[in-house]
Amino acid sequence: MIPRVARGFDARRARRDFPVLAQKVHGRPLTYLDSAATSLAPWSVIEAVRHFDVAQRSNIHRGLHYLSERATAAYEEARTKVQRFLGAGDAREIVFVRGTTEAINLVANSFGHARLSAGDEIVISGLEHHSNIVPWQLICERVGARLCVAPVDDAGDLCWDDLERLIGPRTRLVAIAQVSNALGTVNPIARVVELAHARGVPVLVDGAQAAPHLPVDVRALDCDFYAVSGHKMYGPTGIGALYGKAEWLEALPPFQGGGDMILSVSFEKTIYNRIPFKFEAGTPNIAGAIGLGAAVDYLEQAGRAEVAAHEGALVDRAARALGSMPGVRLVGAPRERACVVSFLVEGVHPHDVGTILDQEGVAVRTGHHCAQPLLARLGLDATARASFGLYNTEEDIEHLLHGLERVKEMFHV
Ligand code: PMP
Repeated sequence: MIPRVARGFDARRARRDFPVLAQKVHGRPLTYLDSAATSLAPWSVIEAVRHFDVAQRSNIHRGLHYLSERATAAYEEARTKVQRFLGAGDAREIVFVRGTTEAINLVANSFGHARLSAGDEIVISGLEHHSNIVPWQLICERVGARLCVAPVDDAGDLCWDDLERLIGPRTRLVAIAQVSNALGTVNPIARVVELAHARGVPVLVDGAQAAPHLPVDVRALDCDFYAVSGHKMYGPTGIGALYGKAEWLEALPPFQGGGDMILSVSFEKTIYNRIPFKFEAGTPNIAGAIGLGAAVDYLEQAGRAEVAAHEGALVDRAARALGSMPGVRLVGAPRERACVVSFLVEGVHPHDVGTILDQEGVAVRTGHHCAQPLLARLGLDATARASFGLYNTEEDIEHLLHGLERVKEMFHV
């Protein structure tokens, strides 16, 4: 369970680290409640990215010259930071990618081509983001495999019995989110891994919404793959990481071909590079990786347990306040919730809610949150969603509630 008592974390002080928060929006102080889409970046990340361009800029792994060696060292140091952050045992198990979407596409393609045949099954859950659905649909279609979906109940929790029933002799992989971006549901990932492994099935965890908010330890979870996005964890856009157990990364074929992923090339035979470079074809987002390293430094210095407790207390408070507000309906009531609360205002389209809140300086997300099957399961096509980061405070919740009063006034709710 996520600890709910915030100790030792000063969100007001942390706000000063995030320059975007200093601005006004429509003449009002910015209330940023859209970190599940993209979090803000602290100065240390902005400076790390800038420093690369100012002092280190050159290509990595190739040049013997001073700048290239410095850039390579900074890039590989970032890999070690991400390794430590995710609890991986070896930096070779961290592949830099564009983000969670690319990480999942990498596994779907590489694993799919090597390990999937007609009649095999991939199991996902009913609360997945499109990026943990569509890559599997694509590979299933290509090889004639089947996508099986463990449903969620009305509260937005995984139906455990159905999951147990679905993982069978044809299941080749389970791919599941640790935290739902649409409802905030925290899935019992350790139990899922235990169940799947007992049946000899590997597990990919979509950690996009978990890594910024909960302490993550891939070795303790024992998952086979874990995907994260830098821009949701206070890092730059266009960078993320895939953790894969070394034995999996060794065994799987490359995803993309090109420079850096090879040891030698001839027209007759190409020998692939060792892991993780085998999966990093072409010049990567070097500045982004260095910025991601700075982001994990920032999160670790803030204290991950403290951040989780602070955000957990905020999201509980927001859920209670919205749940008791006349004319407002909470969507989903998961047993455990992290960082996200979805809601509706009676008779008002979520887009109108979002537009009016924006006029009040309050940034929330509205729409299907790239989780259309989940929303369809709940009989909806859109919600408004407030999501929290470490810089949010109780005042932000007050601003949200105040903005919703304005929505209700305008629509006579
Ligand atoms: N999975 C989840 C749970 C997400 O919330 C998101 C982003 N909204 C993604 C995957 C995709 O992440 P990205 O767009 O950074 O690749």
